[in-house]
Amino acid sequence: MDIAIIGAGAAAVGLLDALDPEAVDSVTVFEPAPLPWRGRPYQPDLDSVLVNVPPEIMSIRFGDRAHYARWLERHAPGAHRDERLGQPIPPRAVYGRYLEDTAEEALARFGRAQVVRAAVADVSPAERLTLRTVDGRRYAADRIALCVGGGTPVDHYGLTGAPGFVANPYPLERTLAEIPPGRDVAVVGAGLTAVDIVVSLAARGHSGGISLVSRSGTLPYVWQRPVETAVRHLTPDGVGSLRGPVTLERLTGLIRTELAEHGEDWDELAARIAATAAADPVANLREQLAMVDAPMLGRRIIQEAAHTAGPVAWRLLPETDRARLRSGLFRTITGLASPMVPRNAAALLDLFDAGGLRILPGIEKIEAAGGFRIKHGAGTHTADVVINAVNPPPHAVPRAAGELVSSLLGQGAARHPHGGLAADPGTGRLLVGGRPDPRLHVVGDLAGGGPFLTSGIPGVAAQAHRAARSLGATPP
Ligand SMILES: Cc1cc2nc3c(=O)[nH]c(=O)nc-3n(C[C@H](O)[C@H](O)[C@H](O)COP(=O)(O)OP(=O)(O)OC[C@H]3O[C@@H](n4cnc5c(N)ncnc54)[C@H](O)[C@@H]3O)c2cc1C
Repeated sequence: MDIAIIGAGAAAVGLLDALDPEAVDSVTVFEPAPLPWRGRPYQPDLDSVLVNVPPEIMSIRFGDRAHYARWLERHAPGAHRDERLGQPIPPRAVYGRYLEDTAEEALARFGRAQVVRAAVADVSPAERLTLRTVDGRRYAADRIALCVGGGTPVDHYGLTGAPGFVANPYPLERTLAEIPPGRDVAVVGAGLTAVDIVVSLAARGHSGGISLVSRSGTLPYVWQRPVETAVRHLTPDGVGSLRGPVTLERLTGLIRTELAEHGEDWDELAARIAATAAADPVANLREQLAMVDAPMLGRRIIQEAAHTAGPVAWRLLPETDRARLRSGLFRTITGLASPMVPRNAAALLDLFDAGGLRILPGIEKIEAAGGFRIKHGAGTHTADVVINAVNPPPHAVPRAAGELVSSLLGQGAARHPHGGLAADPGTGRLLVGGRPDPRLHVVGDLAGGGPFLTSGIPGVAAQAHRAARSLGATPP
């Protein structure tokens, strides 16, 4: 079997690592970026651009949670520790080296393997599948895995091309170097990308004002020290074994049971979460930083379940309940499920306290007018520089895969109504003419139909393993 993998980010690394070389004749990986295996997030960048997650949750090898932690211990023993979290939180570029090492080790196991430094423009189903790269070369394959990643930040205010507007912030090493230290900077968005930008501006000694402008003004939560949660009910199996229709109400019942067994009360936690959404974000940040060590498990359990039981529950929920989650609770769930690391929270809090950083919620519009005029809930603010940190919607099609996706749509693949391409959730097989095609797999955020959280490493690793199994190429 000749396998072609389109894209060389974390998803491709997880897939290569999961494939049994005995079941594969050759592997060809296509990637236009100069440094393969790192995808968009894990390229070389400033040391202040950190991973957002502790090592146990960043193993690219499905079923071996300690794979990355062991690599880190070998390559940077005792380094990069976030003292409050009690865990190493290295720069994202370090994680990129882990992906590189894992990919190279995996590739060396195959009899024939190559990396083609070009983007794939289309795939055609002749007698064998044929891939055409943007420079017109053609390659044949029996099976194809699409590992093209997600979208890039969205320019909501039509500012692309305006002097002083940074449409795509990464690598921050390059984009921040162009900003003189005394300028007033507005960062559009208040999620983890915005946190990276603010912390990195501070690390470079930025002396001008920094504003976070967004609709809600809500910051992500702060990680709590990982502890064993021993979740029993709020697991993929627990959700899967619910008898009868799975609804938001019944899921809430499951959460209530889980928390009660840990001596905690869901209604109390839900009330606290609702109060947080309405409270001053700086006060929230201060309170959460003080709670990194708090023994209560409730928030840890909800966060863990959002990534484990969440995707299973999402597939089973009726569309009315999914719509409720998407519209009313999107921001809260995203902030809870993907918190910031304490070191970044402390850096933000220092800036708030020193008056160098503020939050401007209720953003209405931004106009480029020899600088920028930002209309927000409490008035108008001006800035010299605007940096875009608006996350793309989940399951967005990355620009580099636009032509490729169009070619697949032309051959009977379908867009999922909520983004991405329609794929079979059990195997990752692309639906072509409404049926799962065993020759075409999607690994990563392009697979439509999943929850609205962008896939983190554990999700990508699980999908990669599923795809390898569906290809009949996992070790016996
Ligand atoms: C800024 C940022 C930070 C993140 N931090 C974390 C974190 O700390 N922890 C965590 O768990 N998750 C994090 N994530 C989530 C992240 O999406 C996953 O960790 C992971 O990178 C997804 O891997 P991927 O291979 O699906 O996509 P990517 O890493 O984006 O890789 C996709 C690759 O496909 C290539 N490609 C695209 N189109 C084509 C084409 N037509 N032909 C050939 N190649 C193509 C691209 O060049 C790219 O290299 C972060 C995401 C972002 C955006």
